[in-house]
Amino acid sequence: MALDAGGFPVTRTPAGVQRSARATHALAVLDERISGCYACSRLVAWREQVAREKRASFRDEDYWGRPVPGLGPADARIAVVGLAPAAHGGNRTGRVFTGDRSGDWIFAALWRAGLANQPTSTHLGDGLELSDVRVAAAVRCAPPGNAPTPEERDTCSPWLARELDLLPRLRVVVVLGGFGWTALWPVLAAAGYAIPRPRPVFGHGAEVELAGPRGPLSVLGSYHVSQQNTFTGKLTEPMLDAVLTRATDLAGSAH
Ligand code: SF4
Repeated sequence: MALDAGGFPVTRTPAGVQRSARATHALAVLDERISGCYACSRLVAWREQVAREKRASFRDEDYWGRPVPGLGPADARIAVVGLAPAAHGGNRTGRVFTGDRSGDWIFAALWRAGLANQPTSTHLGDGLELSDVRVAAAVRCAPPGNAPTPEERDTCSPWLARELDLLPRLRVVVVLGGFGWTALWPVLAAAGYAIPRPRPVFGHGAEVELAGPRGPLSVLGSYHVSQQNTFTGKLTEPMLDAVLTRATDLAGSAH
């Protein structure tokens, strides 16, 4: 594959995303391929424009300005799936959920649940290590207005499908927000899981168990850790902790 200026293998089309994702057999390689994806022209233009123009308070920083890969070990039994990186969060730092208030919430909660070695995630190389959990987004590029189109969601979905496939011990997926919930079902169906019809309704604390090629998989819903939810008290720390505790219980009981 051709490499871009950052040294990442380039993918330029939706069909290319499908091919490249299918042909990837290691998480580290997947992370590199995601980082070199240019398949959604609107999102590529936006992520690069934001990275050039920057927010005033970050004007001295080099923005990542690329798709943001997942984070966490390949032996994770739990996956946490969010919507998409924030323009001045993940699109700036290059790490999922890192650099904005949403990330502050989720990483503090992962730490309280015993899934992270520190309660903060601020930048690549800050010493953060996750255990038993992989954190990823349904759409890897920061979208204008935090709103990817259905077409962009579908174009990006093979990356997530492959990522989940490359977690052989996966037993629980925690989905943050209704968008991620909607995006996940086709991904899981493509991976061979039996999806109930009608599709399960999203809600905080929603729980669905699926039968699949590698045994049962539990899908848990949580309100998104967006500022809109956390500032208004729609999502509180105890509410998020309860979902993650349920996830760790389910992951543990799968053995
Ligand atoms: S959203 Fe996904 S498919 Fe689209 S350019 Fe970004 S990484 Fe590629």
